[in-house]
Amino acid sequence: MGRDVQEDRGRAIPETRREAVSTELKNQQRLAARTDAADDRKEPWIMNMFCYQCEQTGKGTGCTAHGVCGKDSETAALQDLAVHVAEGVSQYAHRARKLGVIHRPADLAVVEALFTTVTNVNFDPKRVADVIRHAASVRDEIKQAYESACEKAGQTPEPLAEHAAIRPADDLDEMIRQGEQVTVQRRIDSLGDDVAGLQELITYGLKGMAAYADHARVLGVEDDGVYAFIHEAMDFLAGNPGEVNALVAMVLRVGEVNLKVMEMLDAGNTGTYGHPEPTEVRVTPVAGKAICVSGHDLKDLKMLLEQTEGKGVNVYTHGEMLPCLAYPELKKHKHLVGNYGGAWQDQRQEFDAFPGPILMTTNCIQKPKDSYKDRIFTTGLVAWPCVTHIAADASGHKNFMPVIEAALAAPGFERDEEAKTITIGFARNTVMSVADKVIEAVKAGKIRHFFLIGGCDGAKSGRNYYTQLAQQVPDDCVILTLACGKYRFNKLPFGDIGGIPRLLDCGQCNDAYSAIQIAVALANAFECGVNDLPLSLVLSWYEQKAVCILLTLLHLGIKNMRLGPTLPAFVGPNVLNVLVEQFNLMPIKTPEEDLAAILG
Ligand code: SF4
Ligand code: SF4
Repeated sequence: MGRDVQEDRGRAIPETRREAVSTELKNQQRLAARTDAADDRKEPWIMNMFCYQCEQTGKGTGCTAHGVCGKDSETAALQDLAVHVAEGVSQYAHRARKLGVIHRPADLAVVEALFTTVTNVNFDPKRVADVIRHAASVRDEIKQAYESACEKAGQTPEPLAEHAAIRPADDLDEMIRQGEQVTVQRRIDSLGDDVAGLQELITYGLKGMAAYADHARVLGVEDDGVYAFIHEAMDFLAGNPGEVNALVAMVLRVGEVNLKVMEMLDAGNTGTYGHPEPTEVRVTPVAGKAICVSGHDLKDLKMLLEQTEGKGVNVYTHGEMLPCLAYPELKKHKHLVGNYGGAWQDQRQEFDAFPGPILMTTNCIQKPKDSYKDRIFTTGLVAWPCVTHIAADASGHKNFMPVIEAALAAPGFERDEEAKTITIGFARNTVMSVADKVIEAVKAGKIRHFFLIGGCDGAKSGRNYYTQLAQQVPDDCVILTLACGKYRFNKLPFGDIGGIPRLLDCGQCNDAYSAIQIAVALANAFECGVNDLPLSLVLSWYEQKAVCILLTLLHLGIKNMRLGPTLPAFVGPNVLNVLVEQFNLMPIKTPEEDLAAILG
């Protein structure tokens, strides 16, 4: 195992080189050597890596030599180049669309490049290089299509910036050097924190949107207007905009279009697998062979469940896959026996202890330990060097036999652990079906306030705030939750209010649409705006999907949100002022202070 079963279009990276990138010390040595080489060539030299797109960024300001997430400087440079080349694709695709030319490969190449660069998705330089080469070749196709359309329309093609012309080098080292020329650090140096940060905020929002659009696409739900907007926004960024008002307007448009994308994903999930329903879920193992599925992808889980049917292998969800256990078409498979472990950042300990293979769908992978490196598999866009990857065939089918064989060869759980369960499945359909009861309880004063304590979990300290807050929420208040941050409190006893559970788990971060719909339904029932409801949003963020959801909430005009555990490093001081003035967005304080402020 440990080999790559997907077609390998990229140049092989010697094993020794992969080893060399594994420590920051060696990374620094190479940085010094490259600096010397640049000096010899009398070229200007820049910091070889700068990334501040997620909450755990180094020192709260930026990862500069090696990502806290495990991303090495080479992969970081290639990811920057992937976004840069994708902007070039969009420059042509945006203009071609105005002339009636829609080129689906261009739509998909940009979505793929953006999703690939989301935190904890793709750590394999060879695969990122493949994404870049593919995007550049699609760009050449759409360029030709655009120029032909211009000719037909009697127009002169617009001259475009260098994004649209950059030619990825064949040599991987040379391609990495190309990436180092387009890092965000260069933009910060030339544009300042606020403008560069706003450009990045748009890019990160688009990355999150691309992830959701991709999840929806695999379930057969697409919208041409969404692709058109992604190209428009990427073209906007390629023009290196510096006007703050225009940037802020685009930020809010990203949020607006993302609402549509989340609705599409909701339609894909519920249309394919039914509406989640309240379900008691086992969170302790049962005896038997086992496979653990992490990430977000419902279709991957469904295919695995079908292929494991009757094979004597139990399947467990992990991390953000937990809500899958509430979908009728997934939970009907009796060998989907429960959830194993918690949020993504605990995976290295949890996978180490899991007695079978692990399948990573979409994002959330961390550097695998040697103890399970030969029994972890990736699929979709997620990748780690030397980890076996299961690719889809042309029809979208995936053959998970390597995972099943690994499960049959592994010991599995020896015995049943003591049964423990939690209840999940309170997505919009379920909550709305008891809306009358909820409204009555509010009017009768039995429910005083709703808290939405949702968002990401993460490794950095300060996140126990969310556990403490949930514990301290008074007994006459209901907590709505979603996404992986809930693992900090979802096994605690909260009880109920007149039969309405005090903790309502709405699902994945991908299900934010459900939470928004619940809030809108409550506002309609009380004939007020969402901001006037007895509802407070206390959010935790980690990566770009969460950024995108935050932009959607801002687009909807939701005010008084609390955000933690720290504010994004890419939001400059003046932009933060705008967010505070227009939306009263505030950082979390202590649970006691925030509860006192919220409940008055
Ligand atoms: S994704 Fe986050 S942790 Fe990884 S390099 Fe970027 S800022 Fe650092
Ligand atoms: S909740 Fe946040 S950290 Fe968790 S998977 Fe979703 S976006 Fe990532």
